[in-house]
Amino acid sequence: MMRNMKLTWYPDPVLRRRAKDIAEFTPELAARVETMFEIMEGEGGIGLAAPQAAWGARVFVTRIPAGEVEGPRRVYVNPVVVSAEGRDEAEEGCLSFPDIRARIVRHARVVLRAQDLEGRPFEEEAAGLGARCWEHEIDHLDGILFITRFKAGDLLQAKPKLLELEEKHAARTRAGRKART
Ligand SMILES: [Zn+2]
Repeated sequence: MMRNMKLTWYPDPVLRRRAKDIAEFTPELAARVETMFEIMEGEGGIGLAAPQAAWGARVFVTRIPAGEVEGPRRVYVNPVVVSAEGRDEAEEGCLSFPDIRARIVRHARVVLRAQDLEGRPFEEEAAGLGARCWEHEIDHLDGILFITRFKAGDLLQAKPKLLELEEKHAARTRAGRKART
């Protein structure tokens, strides 16, 4: 586990920042990615973007289940959407927003270009849940929170839980400040 990495929750400011490209493919990158998998798997998630692990880098990891079978560990560094088509609406959640879910419209099929942990470029295609997860994670890298894609009624319904998360964050920030003085 990398010491300075942990799951970040809304409204942590790191979630609103545009993440930076990875330029060097070092053992530290691999160690950070391993920590991302540990965080994601510990929470039972199927995808995690680096900002959700307090790291402002353009990296995300996935484990997309295939039916009942647990999916393989996949890493995407500096991902770029090459093409996206179709329309698919389904319920979505986010590890940074515990207990908040809503139906969101995404593309049905996505082609992605990215690099692996050695910097080798590759292209991959996904449909359905896989495509949805990629778009969700790339949103994270651009500082876009999934609640901004909620329908007005769903956002209104999520409001009390969002306020609760904002209060918890404020309390943590206050506690952190006290600990430093
Ligand atoms: Zn998310």
